[in-house]
Amino acid sequence: MTYVITQNCCKDASCVPVCPVDCIRPVDGAGDTEMLYIDPEACIDCGACAEECPVEAIYYEDDLPESQVRYRDIAADYFRAHPLTADNTPEPRPHAPVQPGALRIAVVGAGPAACYAAAELLEVDGVEVDLFERLPTPFGLIRAGVAPDHQRTKSIADMFSLAFTNRRFGCHLNVEIGERFGHADLLAHHHAVIYAVGAPSSRDLGIPGEGLPGSHPAADFVGWYNGHPDHSDRGFDLSGQRAVIIGNGNVTLDAARALLMSRDELTATDIADHALEALSDSAIEEVVVLGRRGPRDAAFSVGEFLALGDLPGIDVIIDADCDLSPGPDDDVETAMKLTVAREYRDRAPVPGNKRVVFRFHCAPVAIEGDDAVTGIRLRDTRTDADAGVLPASLVLRSIGYRGTPMPDLPFDEATGTIPNDGGRVVADAAALPGVYVTGWIKRGPRGVIGTNRTCAAQTVAALWADFDAGVLTRDVADRAALTATLADRGLAEVDWSGWRAIDKAERGRGADGRRPRVKFVTVEELLAASRP
Ligand code: NAP
Repeated sequence: MTYVITQNCCKDASCVPVCPVDCIRPVDGAGDTEMLYIDPEACIDCGACAEECPVEAIYYEDDLPESQVRYRDIAADYFRAHPLTADNTPEPRPHAPVQPGALRIAVVGAGPAACYAAAELLEVDGVEVDLFERLPTPFGLIRAGVAPDHQRTKSIADMFSLAFTNRRFGCHLNVEIGERFGHADLLAHHHAVIYAVGAPSSRDLGIPGEGLPGSHPAADFVGWYNGHPDHSDRGFDLSGQRAVIIGNGNVTLDAARALLMSRDELTATDIADHALEALSDSAIEEVVVLGRRGPRDAAFSVGEFLALGDLPGIDVIIDADCDLSPGPDDDVETAMKLTVAREYRDRAPVPGNKRVVFRFHCAPVAIEGDDAVTGIRLRDTRTDADAGVLPASLVLRSIGYRGTPMPDLPFDEATGTIPNDGGRVVADAAALPGVYVTGWIKRGPRGVIGTNRTCAAQTVAALWADFDAGVLTRDVADRAALTATLADRGLAEVDWSGWRAIDKAERGRGADGRRPRVKFVTVEELLAASRP
């Protein structure tokens, strides 16, 4: 018998070091795979990994839910292709404790990248961490990006909440780093600053009609249904029967599910109330997903693709005469993606079901319409031939996120990232002392939540190396001075107890129904809830 890692693996590899027989791969979670796997031949059923997993993704083989049984085979296939060998990477040793006040670090942002960096730093006695976030809520994309029907993934926030009870942790929500309190202020109160500000903007297609009403970045739709205050007052035309999503990454699959799931299924999630109401009344019957390359190169992960096929009342249609045969060079996950695509192709559609239709080798040329979107003109990327106009009233552009510049820091327009060397911010070919980045603003908008763990570890290692080399030694103002400065500047910060009050109130609002929480979706509501 074996334990099995399933769909919502966050890939942060917390499970790897607790395994007594070292049978979970890839070890650092940063490898090329979409998730981690347990070798069924080597597993001794101890369950240590399942206990450690922050998102409850690991099951005992006999307890696997029907929808997750496939992961047993995927793991076996993975280890057939990559036989288990001993991992001799030395365990990283934590830094020695520092004197109180010797290392004060500001972390800007409160998403997973920021949380992993802050939590890792707090493991060393003496280090003080102050976290700054523009919104009155922490957790970034865990709260406002992860799909509402992925509640287990969202539960990773509990792991950080535990770390942040530390007395050396200072929480400054509702504080935007900018004009009133900026980079120089951060450096005046801290020995180092780590920017973990993510990639809040969306990439553009650069095609005619992109700005027509009815054409939106998928990130705006995601923010809307997740109750992000920047997006909660947006409107989406759900009156037509077909929506088209450009790009076929995991954000696309999240948005497609949200567009097609039933009211009952959505109610069981923490989707924002306004989105629950609008989507429950939606007329959309079909979501067409456009990939400019073939199924082999689809950006979605096999787990998310597989899960689509289990959604009640929704057919998955593979609409293309494209090659779905695995080749000798395909990795296990690509081969499985093609296998699953073939299974979908061979399924008979159920009359009355809604549909997600995957079209491949299809690039958008123009979004058509006079006053609003009426369709999208396509090109066959294999032949370069016009592929006609696909009528639709809603188009979501899901082609990736993009970082935005931060005041006083360098910015690389081409990649949408802050230039850095392993996490050290670089300007004019030299590292800026005491300034670091982690997460999507460091490496671009790729990877799942747990990818940020290794990313943060690299940045924090660079910071420790600089600390040990004396680069971070200077006098800085202490926490009391910081509190006074923020108050002087009229910044009404929400601290951790304020967030806990919001959290409790939101959960309380959901308690009388089937909902995990009912979110506050404006800054005003959030601030009121933070001061009960
Ligand atoms: P993504 O995975 O990078 O996918 C972007 C998609 O847009 C790709 O299909 C890409 O096609 C396509 N694209 C890019 N430029 C295009 C253009 N000009 N015209 C047409 N198509 C274009 O991005 P994402 O979906 O935003 O996800 C971001 C990250 O978050 C990913 O690492 C993802 O795995 C992660 N995420 C994970 C989950 C989950 O685990 N459940 C959920 C959401 C997000 P090409 O491949 O041809 O470039």
